[in-house]
Amino acid sequence: MNKQRLLNEFLELVKIDSVTKNERQIADVLKVKLEALGFDVTEDDTSEKTGHGAGNLIANLKGSNSAADPIYFTCHMDTVVPGQNIQPVVKEDGYIYSDGTTILGADDKAGIAALLELAKILQEQGNEHGDIQFIITAGEESGLVGAKVMDSKLLKAKYGFAVDSDGKVGGIVTAAPYQSKLWTTIYGKTAHAGVAPEKGISAITLAAKSIAGMKLGRIDAETTANIGRFEGGKATNIVCEEAFILSEVRSINPDKMQQQMDLMIEKFASTSSTLGGKAETKTKLMYPGFNLSEDEQVVQVAMQAIRNIGREPKLMTSGGGSDGNVFNGMGVPTVTLSVGYEEIHTKNERMPVEELNKLTELLLEIVQQTSKTAD
Ligand SMILES: [Zn+2]
Repeated sequence: MNKQRLLNEFLELVKIDSVTKNERQIADVLKVKLEALGFDVTEDDTSEKTGHGAGNLIANLKGSNSAADPIYFTCHMDTVVPGQNIQPVVKEDGYIYSDGTTILGADDKAGIAALLELAKILQEQGNEHGDIQFIITAGEESGLVGAKVMDSKLLKAKYGFAVDSDGKVGGIVTAAPYQSKLWTTIYGKTAHAGVAPEKGISAITLAAKSIAGMKLGRIDAETTANIGRFEGGKATNIVCEEAFILSEVRSINPDKMQQQMDLMIEKFASTSSTLGGKAETKTKLMYPGFNLSEDEQVVQVAMQAIRNIGREPKLMTSGGGSDGNVFNGMGVPTVTLSVGYEEIHTKNERMPVEELNKLTELLLEIVQQTSKTAD
């Protein structure tokens, strides 16, 4: 591995503005870099659907060992705000920081830099490997929108690795929740609040009584629920006719998620109708979850590779969703690997140089492991 080259690549990538929806420039840069490394690169047509600056990049590297498992790695090319004109600084303490006015963008450019270094090593050393795909998504930070609309047929791997989780290199996310959202409208009956309050039914009261009767927050070890937004009412002299509530339920277990949603929907409906009003709820699955056992090949490969770079694998459950959720939902077992970045989505975001090196070592080790599984 060429540590200086890896660091330079990382610094170059974070300086390219790529705030989510504005991925055009970074996509073009990555396309050129990947093609120069022998990848066959296509950008899918999803930018039309997502309204983002670029589609997803699907980069395929033909393997020399046709018996090896075809694998894929995924990272996202977009960043959060404030992410314009990022000026990375490498400090004595071994960390790379921004200048304090922006995020750093190690989420997820540390992953991309490590993937590019991996490709350079493979090209230079001519290591045996199977078919390798890099899927670099757009719009991850705006709700996994790029991955969600990607044609699942483009994903040709047997299993894969999302390079995008916090924690020191060695962490493996093997489970992450399903998430659904609920849009509820509660209908009461309007009336003048001073002249004829008895003729009105307050939608705000119906909502309050419904919510008061619900179990929310942590439901069990696998399941959470939250009322996230409430809107309703116009003026103090009007009995509120309509209220709107946006909520979410997450669970590693899809049946438990559905059960909690049903309870909430039923509570809104029954409380409202008992008091003379009405509630209607629409729901949508935002992303699928996954729960891979330790015996799964992808988990085994990651664990062995981590041991081989001298670290102890740490299996983790995530409370949130990432592109890994979407790709698992497409039927390709995927774990999410810790990258080592710290305090992402803040101006304090930083990246330890040592973790960048370790991450690259790990990716190379994974490729070597998967080439071995063939014989
Ligand atoms: Zn990320």
